[in-house]
Amino acid sequence: LRTMAKSKFEYVRNFEVDDTCLRNWWIVVRLDGRNFHKFAEQHSFTKPNDERALNLMTRCAQAVMEELEDIVIAYGQSDEYSFVFQKKSNWFKRRASKFMTHVASQFASSYVFYWKDYFQDQTLLYPPGFDGRVILYPSNQNLRDYLSWRQADCHINNLFNTVFWNLVQKGGLTTSQAEEKLRGTLSGDKNEILFSEFNINYNNEPLIHRKGTALVWKKIDEITMKTIKLTNEEKEKEILVTRTRKKVTPLHCDLIGEEFWEEHSEILED
Ligand code: ATP
Ligand code: ATP
Ligand code: MG
Ligand code: MG
Ligand code: MG
Ligand code: MG
Repeated sequence: LRTMAKSKFEYVRNFEVDDTCLRNWWIVVRLDGRNFHKFAEQHSFTKPNDERALNLMTRCAQAVMEELEDIVIAYGQSDEYSFVFQKKSNWFKRRASKFMTHVASQFASSYVFYWKDYFQDQTLLYPPGFDGRVILYPSNQNLRDYLSWRQADCHINNLFNTVFWNLVQKGGLTTSQAEEKLRGTLSGDKNEILFSEFNINYNNEPLIHRKGTALVWKKIDEITMKTIKLTNEEKEKEILVTRTRKKVTPLHCDLIGEEFWEEHSEILED
C-alpha cells in the first residue's frame, strides 16, 4: 500500500512552488502581533509602554535567535520583531516559507511558554498569534535603511503615545480630546506639550521606549571549574578553564548613525 501510494499520489508534490530566497541577499523576517491593540487592553497592559510585554517580546526573540540558525541581529518595538539572517545563510536551502514559519511558530510558542515569567498577576486569556513576512535586501545600505525605518517608526509612535497618555492620565483629557489636540502636530509641538504641561524632557525618557531593542551576539568569556583526573595517578585536580561563548545581548541604542555599525562591524561581514 505504501509503495502504491507513493507512485500514484506523489505527483501532488509538484504543486509546491519554489520560494527560494535570492542568493546573497539579506533575508529579513518581521513578525507582528495579531490584533494587539485589543490584546493589550484585555491583558491590562500599562500605557503607553508595558515593560512586562516589552521584556516578554525580547525573551521570545532571544529564544528564536538561540533556537534557529544564522540570525545576526534582531530588532523589536511594540508588538513587532524583525530578524536578520546572514546573507550567506543556506538554512533550509533559503526557502522563504521555512524561515517565516519557523520564526513565527517558535516566537508564538515562546510567548505562551514564557508568559508567566513576566505576567505573574495576569493570566493569559487566549492564545495570541503573529503574522510574518519575508523581505529581501540586496545591499548593506538597504538593510541598514530597513532597520533605521523600524527605529524611526518606534520613535514617532513612542513620542505620540507618550504625549497622548500624559494628556489622558495626567491632563484629564478623554482619549478623543487628546487625539483632537494632537491632530496635525509636529514633533516639536509634541515635545513642547510634554515640556510645558508635564515638565517632561522627551530625551530623558527611557532608551528602551525611544530606541526599541536590538539583539546582538556578544562574545563572553566563561570561566568554569573543571575536575580532571591525572593519568597514572589516583589524584583529581581542579583547574579553571576559560571558554568563549556567544550570548544574545539586548541593546537600546541608536541604529541609524554610524557608531553602532562601526562598533558591531561583524554584523555586516560575510
Ligand atoms: P494588526 O493585527 O494589524 O497588527 P494591531 O492591533 O496589533 O493590529 P499594531 O499596529 O500592530 O496593531 O499595534 C500594536 C498595538 O499593541 C499598539 O498600538 C498598542 O496598543 C499595543 N501594544 C503593543 N505592545 C505594547 C506595550 N508594550 N505596551 C502597551 N501597548 C502595547
Ligand atoms: P523535521 O524537523 O525535518 O520535520 P522531524 O523529526 O519532525 O524533523 P518528521 O518527518 O516530521 O521529522 O517526523 C516526525 C516524527 O515525530 C516521527 O517520525 C515520529 O518519530 C515523531 N512523532 C510525531 N508524532 C508522533 C506520535 N503521535 N507518536 C509518536 N511519535 C510521533
Ligand atoms: Mg500591523
Ligand atoms: Mg500588531
Ligand atoms: Mg505592530
Ligand atoms: Mg517534523
